[in-house]
Amino acid sequence: MVLKSVYFYNPDILTSVKYEKLKAALDGIFRVYLPYQSFTDREALSAIKEIECEKAAVLPYINKGNARNHFEKNFNTVCKTADGFMIQNIGDLAFLSGLFQAHGVSDKFVYGDYSLNVFNSESAAYWNASGLKSVTVSPEPEASEQIKLANSVCKLQNGTMLPEIICGGKIIVMRSEHCFITDNPKYHCVRCGKNGMTGYSLTDNAENKFPVIGLPHDCQNIVLSAKNIEIAEEYAKKHLLGNCILRYNVLNEKDLLNLRISNRKERQEN
Ligand SMILES: [Zn+2]
Repeated sequence: MVLKSVYFYNPDILTSVKYEKLKAALDGIFRVYLPYQSFTDREALSAIKEIECEKAAVLPYINKGNARNHFEKNFNTVCKTADGFMIQNIGDLAFLSGLFQAHGVSDKFVYGDYSLNVFNSESAAYWNASGLKSVTVSPEPEASEQIKLANSVCKLQNGTMLPEIICGGKIIVMRSEHCFITDNPKYHCVRCGKNGMTGYSLTDNAENKFPVIGLPHDCQNIVLSAKNIEIAEEYAKKHLLGNCILRYNVLNEKDLLNLRISNRKERQEN
């Protein structure tokens, strides 16, 4: 079975777009990923509660300093609504297991992001044995290679972990402890923004624009790819031999609109 997930970089989008728009974009979705902060924000929470699918909280992009403290402090609140957590590096797993133990939490899923660098079935087998519910394969190889890897994840011995492939949207190309928005080396430039959307981007010599997302807790940034990943759903479906999640990364309203269009197309075809 082919399932779909939507990954939001910006929790503001939940409250800035009309609810009908959001609902149409998320029609038939299996899972959404949201920055963990969304699960602590009253307005965002009321929108999240209306979404009928699995809800995953993404751990801090740079899991240290104020961001890490903030996550720990809000862990119980996030647990109230989130079905699970998305980890981004191997240390996150130990960190999260510690929190689960300390708070007596035993019913949450753990999902692995592409930053775990799953390139082959051996690393997929490792994460399967670690109890992950799903893992997003590395988006670096060509689509055909990613699909091959997803197929091999389905065939893992004692395999219960779902493979996930990013079919649309931007990916993170850099996590930076330096905030590009200011030249002031001191923390808290304030322009990182409350929920991370800065409106800034980095431009290379070929005029490609790389959007910058602010991490205001520690005045840091993540930098997104200039281009969107585009793997045609029909292509993936044709070559997938087992269960897989197709993931769409959403940065702005335009990305949401594309999801609505593809949902509509699918409904017409069925
Ligand atoms: Zn800053």
